[in-house]
Amino acid sequence: MKFIADGMLGKITRWLRMLGHDVKYSRSLNDERLIEIAKSERRTLLTSDLELYRQATVRGVKVFFVERTTGAKKLANLARRFKVKLEFDVNVSRCPKCNTRIKPIPKEKIIGKVPETTASYYDEFWECPNCEQIYWQGAHWGRIQATLKEARDYLSK
Ligand SMILES: [Zn+2]
Repeated sequence: MKFIADGMLGKITRWLRMLGHDVKYSRSLNDERLIEIAKSERRTLLTSDLELYRQATVRGVKVFFVERTTGAKKLANLARRFKVKLEFDVNVSRCPKCNTRIKPIPKEKIIGKVPETTASYYDEFWECPNCEQIYWQGAHWGRIQATLKEARDYLSK
């Protein structure tokens, strides 16, 4: 699935990228550009703006209205509509910052690039080949898994 998200949807964009989806996002794209790109690149437009939703529908663009609710409920709604898998799979994950597929990086290569305590505590690291951001399943990992579980619970209701 390829998406383009409006400028209000930075958080859900990062989630979808982490779950492996190609999401174009920039806060500088106006409604007209969002619709044009969705059309030319065959992306589904995600928006929480009712007016943009209406315009896109009229123009024949695939569009999904993202309700203003918790992250977990948004994910559940997306999963219901697009079969977004609510399981984390690092083999398909994209960089939440720039949408590029992340790749495993050997531990010896991250020395000096992450805090020393992190380097000594964790063994698995990933790097974004584009923006060079390094990722590991750190303290925030528990919260990510908890949100995904919450989303799966909504979905099964
Ligand atoms: Zn990146």
